Amino acid sequence: EPLRLHVRDLKKHYPIRTGVFSRVTNHVRAVDGISFDLRAGETLAIVGESGCGKSTAGQTILRLLRPTSGLIELSGEDISDCGERTLRPLRQKMQMIFQDPYASLNPRKTIGAAVAEPLTTHRIASGSELTDRVEQLFEKVGLRPEQMSGYPHQFSGGQRQRVAIARAIAVQPSLVICDEPVSALDISIQAQIINLMMDIQADIDLSLLFISHDLAVVELIADRIAVMYLGVFAEVGTKEEIFRNPQHPYTKALLSAVPLPDPKLRSREKIVLAGDVPSPSNPPSGCRFHTRCPLAKDKCRNIVPPLRTGKTGHAVACHLVEGF
Ligand code: SF4
Ligand code: MG
Repeated sequence: EPLRLHVRDLKKHYPIRTGVFSRVTNHVRAVDGISFDLRAGETLAIVGESGCGKSTAGQTILRLLRPTSGLIELSGEDISDCGERTLRPLRQKMQMIFQDPYASLNPRKTIGAAVAEPLTTHRIASGSELTDRVEQLFEKVGLRPEQMSGYPHQFSGGQRQRVAIARAIAVQPSLVICDEPVSALDISIQAQIINLMMDIQADIDLSLLFISHDLAVVELIADRIAVMYLGVFAEVGTKEEIFRNPQHPYTKALLSAVPLPDPKLRSREKIVLAGDVPSPSNPPSGCRFHTRCPLAKDKCRNIVPPLRTGKTGHAVACHLVEGF
């Protein structure tokens, strides 16, 4: 499959003031050097605890934020440093779905108008063709065309997320970044929305970057998984590699905390994490995970473990892991 997204050593740092009268003296290193490729039709999940930088990564890749450094290529085109004028036509190719669709829907506009909006903005359809398109999109996401005249507040969270999905795919994007798209929904509805996204993806050869803290959800949809900790990737692998053969102590800790339906996927090793994620403005030296890692050695405090890639593409950043 062709390469959709090529990200190399991407960084996003924010300046922060340390006191009311101080000049900028520190930076939050929200994303601190991540690299990955995403192919057409593929789903990469970025998982990690809240505050690990995964949302910032998603927004930077979509160029809602300007990267501090690094490379972002969308279908071979370098978008890491271009201005708004170059980005505008590209915006159609990359869409975002957020956790709370209510926040991105205008409460005074019908959901039919909400789905029609991107089609008119990008001059894709007008007149009766527009109505037809909106109707098709409603059907595609499992809404009834009669519901078009309803307002957002009249619908459930799951239905509103269907509207958000219809809006995102209306412009036939090649890349959709979903940031915790089902975290606000009931468990029973989560699976419905995930299934819908997978159906649509298969249909239009969409590449998905799926950001989530929830490994049980990621297990349903991901082809590959990147485990993120304090702005960097701790481990990257196929879903099978991450669930059946996790190598990084952080991945093992995350896995041992999730009740997974398939017992074969449950990690045997129990690792319980102490404490919270440290501040990304002052990440720990050496391995960023050393303050919480039950296996940490002296070396871990001083030397940054490189993300080393094995034969299959499975990559791990830990001094103690070799020959995986
Ligand atoms: Fe733990 Fe050291 Fe491996 Fe980091 S490098 S995960 S601190 S063992
Ligand atoms: Mg977030």
